[in-house]
Amino acid sequence: MRVYNFSAGPAMIPLPVLERASAELADWRGSGMSVMEVSHRGKDFVACAAETEAALRLVLGIPDNYKVLFLQGGASGQFDAVPMNLTAPGDQVDFINTGQWSKKAIAAAERQGQVVNVIADEAASNYTTVPPAASLAPTPGAKYLHYTPNETIGGVEFGYVPQSDAPLVADFSSTILTRPIDVSQFGVIYAGTQKNMGPAGMAVVIAREDLTGHARPTTPAIWDWQAMAESDSMLNTPPTFGIYLLGLILDWITQTGGLTAMAERDKAKADALYAAIDSSALYSNPVAKDARSWTNIPFTLADPALDAAFLEGAQEAGLTNLKGHRSVGGMRASVYNAMPMAGVQALIAYMESFEQQH
Ligand SMILES: *Cc1c(COP(=O)(O)O)cnc(C)c1O
Repeated sequence: MRVYNFSAGPAMIPLPVLERASAELADWRGSGMSVMEVSHRGKDFVACAAETEAALRLVLGIPDNYKVLFLQGGASGQFDAVPMNLTAPGDQVDFINTGQWSKKAIAAAERQGQVVNVIADEAASNYTTVPPAASLAPTPGAKYLHYTPNETIGGVEFGYVPQSDAPLVADFSSTILTRPIDVSQFGVIYAGTQKNMGPAGMAVVIAREDLTGHARPTTPAIWDWQAMAESDSMLNTPPTFGIYLLGLILDWITQTGGLTAMAERDKAKADALYAAIDSSALYSNPVAKDARSWTNIPFTLADPALDAAFLEGAQEAGLTNLKGHRSVGGMRASVYNAMPMAGVQALIAYMESFEQQH
């Protein structure tokens, strides 16, 4: 029996994708082997990786002058790889700090010797807001502006794309593929795959061509964007299963109407859950209304003493992984692409009945 899994990541994978992967598992493309057992240099897998890249380019509308890379080390690997590929030690870089993932990216840039200018820091709101677009003043000469379009832990999301003369670098781990984006506004997009793109263990990097080829000599080869682009992300053995499964997910997105339809469904799910929270006396969400995430929705109970009973009852109702991040407490419902509206409705129904009982 499948549950509704509200985990922030690794997260739900669409059931049709799991069923197709399971049907193909033991004998993939007539090879008599699973996709995990074939050579990554063989023509079948090389074709599979090329198909996944082509599908990602089509679904996201990635222009030809961008490289698409499938790397290991997750999004966190890119926290260090971004400064290694784009700067020399001592260069200035700009960051917007909207919460915990921003902070980790900032710490990595500092570790790599960057002079980090935090051009906006939402500490005053306890990271429940995004800065107004007009308030941003990027530093002249900074090598890039980094931001986190969606803070997965705080549930805080930008409703706009920040502007800077320097290339924009965005950690899209928790909202990539939830709606159409204009890739040409970004210098580099990166994302860990375990939220909306399949199993853990991979990062997708989409880098404008002119921003590759400048890695520091000390950059690990597997994170040197140019070296990886030249080898089709196969300088070493790539995360083959992740590349394959991302291809299946992109097929599923295409078959269900592409990113425009995905955005409508994701927005409707988030709207329904926020409406239920806002209209209740028991639950509340701390995030400013113009900065509320579509994919990660934290909420607290008026009396934290009820948390354990809430989680226990949810588990019994087949609603799992609702416990909030340890740093925030309360609950968090992550409702990525694979979470159906029926799962959100089941959660809302459970929340209402729990509120009536308490
Ligand atoms: C999950 C997440 C990460 C970390 O991803 P890993 O693949 O575990 O390194 C980084 N940034 C954001 C915004 C995330 O949601």
